[in-house]
Amino acid sequence: MIDKKLIRYSRHILLPDIEYEGQLNLINSHILIVGAGGLGSSASIYLAAAGIGKITICDFDKVDLSNLQRQILHTDKFIGINKALSAKAALKEINPEVKVFGIEKKLDIKEMKNVAKEVDVIIDCSDNFLTRYSLNQIAYDLKKPLVSGAAIGFDGQVSVFDFINQDSPCYQCLFPDSGEDEELRCSDHGVFSPIVGIIGCMQAAEAMKLILKVGKSLMGRLLILEAKDMDWKTLKIIKDPHCKVCSK
Ligand SMILES: [Zn+2]
Repeated sequence: MIDKKLIRYSRHILLPDIEYEGQLNLINSHILIVGAGGLGSSASIYLAAAGIGKITICDFDKVDLSNLQRQILHTDKFIGINKALSAKAALKEINPEVKVFGIEKKLDIKEMKNVAKEVDVIIDCSDNFLTRYSLNQIAYDLKKPLVSGAAIGFDGQVSVFDFINQDSPCYQCLFPDSGEDEELRCSDHGVFSPIVGIIGCMQAAEAMKLILKVGKSLMGRLLILEAKDMDWKTLKIIKDPHCKVCSK
């Protein structure tokens, strides 16, 4: 590591759980972030600053004025521009050392799987169930860890489905797909701005812990935040023996 990097990451290197080796692991890692909205903004900013070597961020949507209240990656001058492109520009400003790949098109499952194959951790920062179920299946098939987050209104939740571990439950175990199109998006409903920041940050923390192999991940636990009372709850997630994704 050259001197400039040693200085940039010195407050990580000083941590006994990270040190030089751990920072090198972060630099050599590749994280996929699906969604460059509120959760993706906060997650990607920390991951870039922390020195994750490669970040792939995908979003087919364009920056809209109504996004700027919470999607802190994007600024006024990027209104009308694709969010993955706007994210790429913003993250390069935060840390020019990081390689950022922006994917502007809507990927089908096969294409997403090809992208996910190359990464160490997948972070679901999407705002819809269809994407969440697809990413769960892809992560399970590829045996990659999936860090899942969601936020709506004043509430948020975060969990880890770590498919490197055979005992991990999956997103489908937690929320069985009823087949109905239950669309509950921030874009249609209100969302308290900082909640996406808090949850996105926790997703970044869990992803980095997985790469560093530090502590205990949220595998098997769903952490729920009710921000109105700033009340955190932990729900145990049980692996469903009949789950149509992970019981096979
Ligand atoms: Zn399952």
